[in-house]
Amino acid sequence: MGLETSRTDSNSNEVAAPLKVLVVEDFDDTRFLMRIELEKRGFRVFEATDGEQGVELAMRDRPDIILMDIGLPQIDGIEATRRIRGDNTMRDVLIVALTAHHETEYRAQALAAGCDAYLTKPVDFDWLIDLLGRLLP
Ligand code: CA
Repeated sequence: MGLETSRTDSNSNEVAAPLKVLVVEDFDDTRFLMRIELEKRGFRVFEATDGEQGVELAMRDRPDIILMDIGLPQIDGIEATRRIRGDNTMRDVLIVALTAHHETEYRAQALAAGCDAYLTKPVDFDWLIDLLGRLLP
């Protein structure tokens, strides 16, 4: 079991590229921990520290997966998700919202904005990998 974190190009014999994850999180310690845990599991990680930068890097780096904190400076994760989904070429990116334990009211909004799922922080990485395995094509 376990998620295959690289994608094979069926038309070539090239080495599969690692899946790209954009972590949008304003709290440095959490972002750092997420990078360590995701890289350990074979993902390539990009980081954004606020909602606007999250939208910008999503468009620029074309991640396969976005882990989107909801409580963010500038624009929040819900608005950032809306903007990303507003771009026609970003319809297929997998977006997982991250909410703090008490932020249950944001979960429905996150899904309505276009998130595929949400997770409660602190993130359980085994759970996250399992979730991605079920959501990724
Ligand atoms: Ca936050």
